[in-house]
Amino acid sequence: MGSVLLDFPAQSGGNRETKTTCPYCGVGCGVIASVDAQESLSVRGDETHPANYGKLCSKGSALADTLGDEDRLLYPQIGGKRASWEQALDQAASKFSDIIAKHGPDAVAFYVSGQLLTEDYYIANKLMKGYIGSGNIDTNSRLCMASSVVGHKKAFGADTVPGCYEDLEQADLIILTGSNLAWCHPIIYQRIAAAKAARPEMKIVVIDPRETATCDIADMHLALVPGSDVALFQGLFNYLDQQGCADNDFIAQHTENFEPAMHAAISYNLDAVSRLSGISEAELEAFYALYAKTEKTVTIYSQGVNQARDGTDRVSTIINCHLLTGRIGKLGAGPFSVTGQPNAMGGREVGGLANQLASHMDIGNAAHRDLVQRFWGSPTMAPKAGRLAVDMFDAIHDGTIKAVWIMATNPVDSLPNANHVRAALGRCELVIVSDIYGHTDTAACADILLPSTGWGEKDGTVTNSERRISRQNAFLPASGEMRHDWWQLCEFAKRMGFEEGFNFEGPAEIFREYAGLCAYENNGTRDLDLSGFMDISKEDYDAIEPIQWPVTKAAPQGRARFFEDHKYFTPSGKAQFIAPAALEAPQRRADYPFILNTGRIRDQWHTMTRTARSGRLSQHISEPFIDIHPHDAKSLGLEDADIAVLESAYGQMLARVCVTQRQREGAVFVPMHFTDRFASAGRVDALVHPVIDPFSGQPASKSTPVAVSKFKAKWYGFAVVASDIFEAVSVPKSVQYWSKARIASGVKLELAGTKLPEYWASFMGALLGEDEGLEYIDMISPVNGTARLAGFKDGKLLALLYTGNQPVAVSRNWACEQLLGSPSGAERYRLLAGRPSGDVPDKGAIICSCLNVGINDIQSAIAKGCASVNAIGDATGAGTNCGSCQPEIKAILQTKEKIDVPA
Ligand code: SF4
Repeated sequence: MGSVLLDFPAQSGGNRETKTTCPYCGVGCGVIASVDAQESLSVRGDETHPANYGKLCSKGSALADTLGDEDRLLYPQIGGKRASWEQALDQAASKFSDIIAKHGPDAVAFYVSGQLLTEDYYIANKLMKGYIGSGNIDTNSRLCMASSVVGHKKAFGADTVPGCYEDLEQADLIILTGSNLAWCHPIIYQRIAAAKAARPEMKIVVIDPRETATCDIADMHLALVPGSDVALFQGLFNYLDQQGCADNDFIAQHTENFEPAMHAAISYNLDAVSRLSGISEAELEAFYALYAKTEKTVTIYSQGVNQARDGTDRVSTIINCHLLTGRIGKLGAGPFSVTGQPNAMGGREVGGLANQLASHMDIGNAAHRDLVQRFWGSPTMAPKAGRLAVDMFDAIHDGTIKAVWIMATNPVDSLPNANHVRAALGRCELVIVSDIYGHTDTAACADILLPSTGWGEKDGTVTNSERRISRQNAFLPASGEMRHDWWQLCEFAKRMGFEEGFNFEGPAEIFREYAGLCAYENNGTRDLDLSGFMDISKEDYDAIEPIQWPVTKAAPQGRARFFEDHKYFTPSGKAQFIAPAALEAPQRRADYPFILNTGRIRDQWHTMTRTARSGRLSQHISEPFIDIHPHDAKSLGLEDADIAVLESAYGQMLARVCVTQRQREGAVFVPMHFTDRFASAGRVDALVHPVIDPFSGQPASKSTPVAVSKFKAKWYGFAVVASDIFEAVSVPKSVQYWSKARIASGVKLELAGTKLPEYWASFMGALLGEDEGLEYIDMISPVNGTARLAGFKDGKLLALLYTGNQPVAVSRNWACEQLLGSPSGAERYRLLAGRPSGDVPDKGAIICSCLNVGINDIQSAIAKGCASVNAIGDATGAGTNCGSCQPEIKAILQTKEKIDVPA
């Protein structure tokens, strides 16, 4: 499905087009939403947007699939029953006010999200810090880049991203550390890949314990021992100094604290780093020498660096190397943090973090608190930082925080120790959840549920990884009683008696106030200056073109790069070298002998509330899996496609086994996306330990000690079921393992259990939610009681079920395509074979989800002589739309091995 029908007419005279910004990752791609004469909506990349110049990845390309009212939360609810906005807001505000009156402002909290627009975020922060008077507002961005924020502030005196995307193309050496850019930030990856194709002398080094898709363009892959990142960069720092690569003039004139940083790095010689990192001395030296000789170097990093107990130190050691060599504030050189979410940067800017104030001011700074309070004219100001995410939910669990409002995020699935988070919400006096869906695992814990507008329905701004502010514009009407987040907050604030601070007409007025605060008593002392926008009209706000802040009256065109002038925001105006604290690396434990790493997959976003609506995106990977090295798998008696039990000190999950050389021994990888809606036991954050970086409060989500064993299934199954409604397809409770994913005509399911169902026909009826009028054909094994069934109604195929005492090998995509067909005679029985007849090719697992090209199509093209990604694209179409699958196509070409995705 590439489009949805709208319930309002297109303008006469052709397509109506709206420029907006993708709501997924921090690349911040420009999107054009287009409504044609048939009232059908499609999306394409905005050729004029400087983040993507017209390209979109697989997720962005499928945005139109994710729209529509199905599953949407349309009305407020109190206690699960429909209520009016007046009732919901009155009750929410009155309960908040009561709790504050009895227990003080720190007894309430907001937990917000990088999915919010800057204007929503600004209002939430203003209300909590300036009117309620608590610092208790934190954001899910705490989970993805808080360590970068602290690293920036320590080194530069402000949370300043020095460079821009152009630097990534102009660099002669790109180091990608802790970043699977090919899957997590695909358009930046494609820009780098294109730059390397144009200048093959450009070098790329990937530092990652896993051999990810990003390694496709790497000249060197350093598969370091998890947790040895600081040692690797300390070794680099030491090497650069010893080789005479220090820029002594730059260090003397523009930096401080070189000596303590050098002292901390001095013991990291090649031998020591090799022992700690598991990388040979020869490889280390090759990398260090490459860095030493390449002036134009950019180090890109993201969650693999940030989500660690020593995440801040990792950031500091990366920045130290750039300061040592003076490679910062220059075209093609600098450290570059890539943000996870579409508006993680906007949240940082307006004080979405509990330890910051709006406009990049510090809550710990009395002068800043005074300045912000004077600007707002607010009755109070939070005197100190509030609770950071993990701590906030601990305080909810122990009753210190008694009311929480969760906006646009799903912490029951995304925070570490997620079962504890669920329990905390179960004990909380008042849980308000505002979201665009009411079926999330967090919404299930809500006392008051508020329907928010989503992408395409709301207006505002977002800031991407290179500080570029772009507009998100509405092009769809809001259905039911959905309301904008800023509106909900303002109405709530008024009911708490704070009319004067929250009388906003719309996002333009909010943005104007925010820009005014950025400019207020700034005079060049703070990096975030938006004085160029402080008098902006609504018309000009609606017409804002993508622009990188600062945007000042003197430089209204914005600024691509900071620190070209060597002016930092520290008290001395100089950049600071930071000696890292000696934090312990994660240890393997005898009872939990593997280190669990979590992360994203190519075609899903966060907890899949939106991307799982697209059958196209579910073709790539649609169930929880565990990547494990062949030696580890063998020692555990695990084989490809088995089901594994993963267990930590905090929880348990089940996942499909993928045995792969790309994974280091002793470590396993599991995707972060699956929730109770999509799998029986796929919530990986239920296992993740609540260990945090002591400086940033960011959880160490990539280093949980776990045990792995085989799930002793008696039977395995695969089913496809015709249904328009995802929730209508439900699995009997007796089945321990299942995963569900949307397909074009219904739902596909993976199944496994320890006890065979008594009657397979009843089992299929249960999946369908009915068995009245169904007719079946089946084939039941007399040996082990497993079966293959097809179910029909009125001649139409409604369900197929394949089971066996081993993982079932059937052509899944072919089976999906058979639903709602009307086969007869022998054709019906051919369905039970689970694969097409000899004259119809079987695609195999889908690699290119845009154009539905499978691994068998690609291997067949290779067998016919296609020897490059382009040739395979010409022959099959694979990789020719968004290009997100090109790394996998290249991997198939190079290894000729089975690709590491579940079939
Ligand atoms: Fe959206 Fe993909 Fe661009 Fe990220 S890279 S903003 S997900 S289109």
